Amino acid sequence: MMEQFSRKQFVKRLVVLFTTLSLFGGESEIIGKEPKKEEKLIPIPDGEKPVSENDPTAQALGFHHNAKDTDFILFPERKLPQSKNQVCLQCAQFTKLNDGWGKCTILTSGVVSNMGWCSAWSKKS
Ligand code: SF4
Repeated sequence: MMEQFSRKQFVKRLVVLFTTLSLFGGESEIIGKEPKKEEKLIPIPDGEKPVSENDPTAQALGFHHNAKDTDFILFPERKLPQSKNQVCLQCAQFTKLNDGWGKCTILTSGVVSNMGWCSAWSKKS
């Protein structure tokens, strides 16, 4: 009897657990958010390589190929609403090579992503 009760309890808890997990797994549908889309990868232009985010200059400037990876504790100004369009593509130092990559006059060891950012960003005129 005791063993049967425990098994019953176990099954009930399992059902509750799976229901809870499926609710959290489907969170985006429940609260109406779009699931995160895969970012489209644009090939790096022939003969080029991306600037390493570990490059000392890149690190000093807080550079990331994806501006969303910015350390907002170090660079809180990047989180301000008026900064959302501050990406390499809109930077005065940037020269576009294709739809995903370009050259930066400051980080010259490779190419930078259109959607990158560093603290040397300045508005393209
Ligand atoms: S200077 Fe401009 S183009 Fe170069 S990495 Fe920084 S934001 Fe991007």
